Amino acid sequence: MSSVKVPFLDLKAHHDPIRQEVMVAMNAVIDENAFAGGKFVTKFEEEYAKYCEAKYCVGVANGTDSLWFSLLAMGVGQGDEVITIPMTFLATAEAITYAGAKPVFVDINPQTFTIDVTKIEAAITPRTKAIMPVHLFGQCADMDPIMEIARKHKLFVIEDAAQAQGSKYKGRLAGSIGHAGSFSFYPGKNLGAWGEAGAITTNDAALREGMQMYREHGQKKKYYHDVVGWNGRMDGIQAAVLSVKLKYLDKANNGRRRVAARYNGLLAGLPGVALPTEAAYAHHIYHVYAVRVANRDVILKQMGERGVSCGIHYPVPVHLQNAYANLGHKRGDFPISESCADSYLSLPMFPELTDQQIETVATEFKACLAQSKS
Ligand SMILES: *Cc1c(COP(=O)(O)O)cnc(C)c1O
Repeated sequence: MSSVKVPFLDLKAHHDPIRQEVMVAMNAVIDENAFAGGKFVTKFEEEYAKYCEAKYCVGVANGTDSLWFSLLAMGVGQGDEVITIPMTFLATAEAITYAGAKPVFVDINPQTFTIDVTKIEAAITPRTKAIMPVHLFGQCADMDPIMEIARKHKLFVIEDAAQAQGSKYKGRLAGSIGHAGSFSFYPGKNLGAWGEAGAITTNDAALREGMQMYREHGQKKKYYHDVVGWNGRMDGIQAAVLSVKLKYLDKANNGRRRVAARYNGLLAGLPGVALPTEAAYAHHIYHVYAVRVANRDVILKQMGERGVSCGIHYPVPVHLQNAYANLGHKRGDFPISESCADSYLSLPMFPELTDQQIETVATEFKACLAQSKS
């Protein structure tokens, strides 16, 4: 068994150059005792709204709360339906369930891995309240047709932009197009905290007020509660960390685009391998670089043995998870998501990957393909 030559993600390499700057920012929070919500959160909210070209940002505890509070602020609840995709992290559907509504799935487009906009209208019923497209792997869903369908049927749109900080659709920032944009700052995301955090962007003042209320026990004024909310505040230390890291987000995203371009060049034309594609409308930020390959499980194992750590995002689509057995879905209901789940292989992806490491990944991947055919 060889040691790891190329890790899947190297957060230490990402943080070492800014460690001192972040430590200074964290010390300022300690000096001011601004730990739960507070001035550092307000500062980050202003900076992140500006970055996303949205009017408002509401900082919350994580990227699951941000989806949930968005739905609650829109009045989505018992008996309602929300349309989303089954090829996503479970949190997308969980938030819909915790709002009291039912997730209704639409399959993905096999080129972009985002919601197939031609299949949305067939999934709309009188109970549908919202569409929740997911900007999977860092590439935006095709937002223009989604917004058009939403206008026609009077639905809300929540962008699950957990993997898309700085991603663009026709030049517009992810999170600024729908009625709300939901972000996760889980440490491994493109913009990652040193702990857990999330945020919602919106251009709608009423929605913002609702989101602020739900993250703060349903109160607008301390100890006066208008609705039953939750404790979903952003941590002050995380806000300070994120304010520093936001300054380097574009540089990091460009680093990921460099890595993706290198992979695209080195792996072009391999028979039986589909590389990720960037739609004409998109500025893809490659949170995940997933190829599709037959014999995926064998290749994943061989890559590991050769010292290259890969991942699968995600091995089981949401409609086939035990947690959602109650929805009564079966294999065959969303064939593209299912075949992606069976064939996706995420290669190492982080901005600091060296050309040497990228070449090692490509060389070992080609060797695995040859080995799996012999
Ligand atoms: C990470 C992620 C979430 C959840 O974010 P947390 O901060 O971990 O709660 C939601 N949706 C998608 C698509 C994600 O990748």
